[in-house]
Amino acid sequence: MAVIPFEFEGTIIKPGKRAVVELEIARLPSGTVIHMPVHIFHGKEPGPTVLLSGGLHGDEINGIETVRRIIASKMLNKLKCGTVLALPIINVYGFINFSRDVPDGKDVNRSFPGSAEGSLASLVAYTLTQKILPHIDFGVDFHTGGASRTNYPQIRFDKQDTKARDLATLFKAPFTLYSGIIANSLRASAMELGKPIIVYEGGEALRFSEFAIEEAIRGTKRVLFHYGMIKSNPKPRRQTLFQQSSWVRAEVSGLFSFRKQSGQKVKQGEIIGKINSPHNDYSVKIISPVNGSIIGHNNFPLVHKGDAIFHIAYDELTLENE
Ligand SMILES: [Zn+2]
Repeated sequence: MAVIPFEFEGTIIKPGKRAVVELEIARLPSGTVIHMPVHIFHGKEPGPTVLLSGGLHGDEINGIETVRRIIASKMLNKLKCGTVLALPIINVYGFINFSRDVPDGKDVNRSFPGSAEGSLASLVAYTLTQKILPHIDFGVDFHTGGASRTNYPQIRFDKQDTKARDLATLFKAPFTLYSGIIANSLRASAMELGKPIIVYEGGEALRFSEFAIEEAIRGTKRVLFHYGMIKSNPKPRRQTLFQQSSWVRAEVSGLFSFRKQSGQKVKQGEIIGKINSPHNDYSVKIISPVNGSIIGHNNFPLVHKGDAIFHIAYDELTLENE
C-alpha cells in the first residue's frame, strides 16, 4: 500500500512522523501574536483523519487536559494508520482570560463558519473551517459544564446523524444523549461538509475532574482502536442512550443544597435537593419531574429563581454493543 506524506499548511509530515504547526490567529492589543498550535500525528499506513479538540470554550480545562494527555501518552507516536490532528486549545483568548468566550464576549462555538474579516470569535471559527475541517473525516470535541455546573461524562450527538451515532456507540461514554445541532456551531459546519463531530462533556469549567478526563481518554482510545489506528482497547461497557433531557430550575432564590447529584438515577416525585432562605423564612423541596438520571448539576450554593440546577436525562434506550 502506498505510504503518502500528509501535507498541512506547507508542512510535509512523512508516514510514522509527527509535527506541530502553529496557525496564526491575530495579535493581542499588546502586539503579541496568538497562535493555535496543531499537533499532527501521521500513521504508517493510510486511514482516517481524526480531529481531537479542546478549549473551544477557553475555560473548559478538562477538554484541554484530555487532549494534552493524549498527546503526551505516546499512543499516537505509534499510530498504525491514519492521521490525528490534536488541538488542545482552540480558544487561546478565553484560556488566558479564564473565560468561555473571546474578549469581545462572543462564543466561538456560535460563530461558525466564520469570516476572515469578522471579529475575533469569527476569525477563530474561520481558521478551523478553512484549515482543519477540510482535512478530517470525523472528530471528537471535548467540553465541560459551565462555571460551577458539572456534567457527568457524556457524549452528545444529533439524532439524524447516523455517522455520529456510530462514533458515539464506539466511544461508550458513561452516558450518551441526543442533542440537536446548534446553529453556527463547529458541529454544524462540520456536518455541512458531511464530517461528523461528536461532543464530549465532562466535569465543570476551571476545575479538573480526573474521572471526566479518564473517561474521555478511554472513549477516544475505543474509537481509534476501532479504526485500527492504535493497539490498546479499553474494556467495553453497557451503554445508556437518553432520548430526552431537560433542566430543573430553582423555584425560589436562596441557599441550594443537593441530595442527589450527577450520575445518580432519580425517580419521579423524589426529593433531589432543597432551597432554604438564609433566615429560615422558607424551605422549598426540589422534586424530580421524571424517572431518569442526573447528567449535570449546579455546585454553586447561591441560586436565583429560575437558575438551572439539575439536568436530568430520561427516555432510555440501551445501545447495541459490538
Ligand atoms: Zn463548551
